Amino acid sequence: MQRYFVTPEQFGQDTVVLDGEDARHIAKVMRGKAGDKLIVSDGVSREALVAIASIEIGEVTATILESLEMTHEPRIQITVAQSLPKGDKLETVIQKCTEIGAVAFVPFLSERTIVQYDERKESKRLDRWRKICKEAAEQAHRNIVPKVSSPLGWKQLLGSFSGYDAVYFCYEKEEGLQLRSAAAPWLAGLEPESSAKVLVIVGPEGGFSEEECEAAEAAGAVSVGLGRRILRCETAGMVAAACILYESGEMGGA
Ligand code: SAM
Repeated sequence: MQRYFVTPEQFGQDTVVLDGEDARHIAKVMRGKAGDKLIVSDGVSREALVAIASIEIGEVTATILESLEMTHEPRIQITVAQSLPKGDKLETVIQKCTEIGAVAFVPFLSERTIVQYDERKESKRLDRWRKICKEAAEQAHRNIVPKVSSPLGWKQLLGSFSGYDAVYFCYEKEEGLQLRSAAAPWLAGLEPESSAKVLVIVGPEGGFSEEECEAAEAAGAVSVGLGRRILRCETAGMVAAACILYESGEMGGA
């Protein structure tokens, strides 16, 4: 069933009003009509099965039929920090990691970031990343839309570590500790059903320098490898997120 995210303000007692791009999508793409059922979520605390009551230009009103439980979010909340890659690779990272279950994305600039980040174009790029994230969240039946923050500087990223329970610095030259050996025992030691915040840091096409690895470790990150093969920068975050969620039993079957 088609799903849409709305703001909490659009969620009334008995009805939900969808507008903008969502109303256009229902009317033009889905060819919706009165009586059609949809699932609507406010991305915070309410999700419901609704039936379209009326379709007008730019506005669809739907009647709430049934409140639904929000049970699709992982208890391990992964933020993927990705050094800004070239072209549209960050869009791929955001789309795929949203499907996998990441809850937030933090683009950042590091020593070997190739792309120039243009402050003036920031809002346009951010809007696009957030749109892709929302669409991926709808497609993946997420209960929330992951957050995409504006790009941070390297020092700002290091300063954010205290907001997480674990920080894994994916370092392609790490020959010692591997992600699984670092994360699995820690995840196994968490109280059952408890949640935890994990930051996964991925470098750009040219990788990280040794100095960056040392600085990340000094700030509290654990440097980890992702196995014996070198992954593209847009693949590493997906792999790390999937491995952590697999180890925590969040990929089904646990
Ligand atoms: N240019 C680098 C090289 O040839 O060694 C590779 C950089 S890789 C394309 C980009 C980023 O993905 C790395 O900085 C790291 O964060 C992550 N990554 C890729 N493969 C990895 C691995 N085997 N272990 C840990 N991190 C990896």
